[in-house]
Amino acid sequence: MKSLRVKTQSEYEVTITDSLAAFTEKVSLLIKGDLVAVITDSNVDGIYKNEIENSLTGKKVIKFVVPAGEESKNVENYLKILNGLADNGFTREDTVITFGGGVVGDLGAFVASTYMRGIKLIAVPTTLLSMVDSSVGGKTAINLEKGKNLCGTFYQPSAVYINTGFLKTLPKKEVLCGLGEILKYRFISKDAKIDISKIDEDLIYKCLKIKADIVSKDEKESGKRKLLNFGHTFGHAIEKLSHFTIPHGICVAKGIVYALKISEKYFGTSEKVRKDYILTAENLGIDVSCEYDLNELISLISIDKKRSGKGADFVLIDDKFRPEIVNILLSEIKGYIL
Ligand code: ADP
Ligand code: ZN
Repeated sequence: MKSLRVKTQSEYEVTITDSLAAFTEKVSLLIKGDLVAVITDSNVDGIYKNEIENSLTGKKVIKFVVPAGEESKNVENYLKILNGLADNGFTREDTVITFGGGVVGDLGAFVASTYMRGIKLIAVPTTLLSMVDSSVGGKTAINLEKGKNLCGTFYQPSAVYINTGFLKTLPKKEVLCGLGEILKYRFISKDAKIDISKIDEDLIYKCLKIKADIVSKDEKESGKRKLLNFGHTFGHAIEKLSHFTIPHGICVAKGIVYALKISEKYFGTSEKVRKDYILTAENLGIDVSCEYDLNELISLISIDKKRSGKGADFVLIDDKFRPEIVNILLSEIKGYIL
């Protein structure tokens, strides 16, 4: 078992283990009220029907199951769950547990952050992507018609419990998405020595340690936290251009190729870094090629929320292999790539 502390305004512990007993022990210390809401999706509920409830002995558990898939991160489900909490008499003494991937994590955390101005939240991520990324850092969100994650808050959980055992049932495709995001961590912290040959407690711990350290210094993404967006400027544009048919982690993996390409002209970073990266990704089974038109990608970057002023923020890798946040004029991006 490994654990780490995230030192945001409200500090919390992340536990990484393969035992459910550790969960029971932690939650019994954390949960004070009698009521617990478990927010999950149809797939996770189908596989782990009673897993979480059984470890909440003595509590009254109300379960909210949303259909699996990104579409569930909507206003209707948000209101449905809020009303469900109110109907069941939840107060600020009670607890919300999110049990699932990023969809359930984002939606459930947004519910927790707004119900009675904030109710206790325990995150139990079940996808590799949410284990190494979205479960830590306090971003909550739902989607609006105009776009993904347009409505949300920063709200830290009281605890994050990661059980690597849940990964056993995760489809290969979802594992690859997580790996895409893990590849990012290798660039933003070369000292961490992230070994991707085995997906285990150690790998998840190392990724989250990087994230926790960054988030602890910059909770609201005004500076250093932007490093976590490595590969995301182009990644988000690819995601949008694919109409979200290419999963997020894979888009990030593709976006990293662009970031490295730009780094070559901007910093004189060796081309070998990019070539090695492509090989590593391909060996994992991640397709990092991108067929989309560069002009279209850049025009999408120009309307992205990461844009600032006349330029867009990029995380690049300099010639000493250090990550740097740089702002590049939209009109100049193309010149760095061609
Ligand atoms: P993320 O945003 O973290 O990639 P999602 O919430 O979109 O995750 O989940 C991706 C898919 O994986 C969904 O279909 C979800 O139901 C499914 N899923 C999540 N956790 C597991 C698990 N441990 N085993 C099997 N399927 C899972
Ligand atoms: Zn991401």
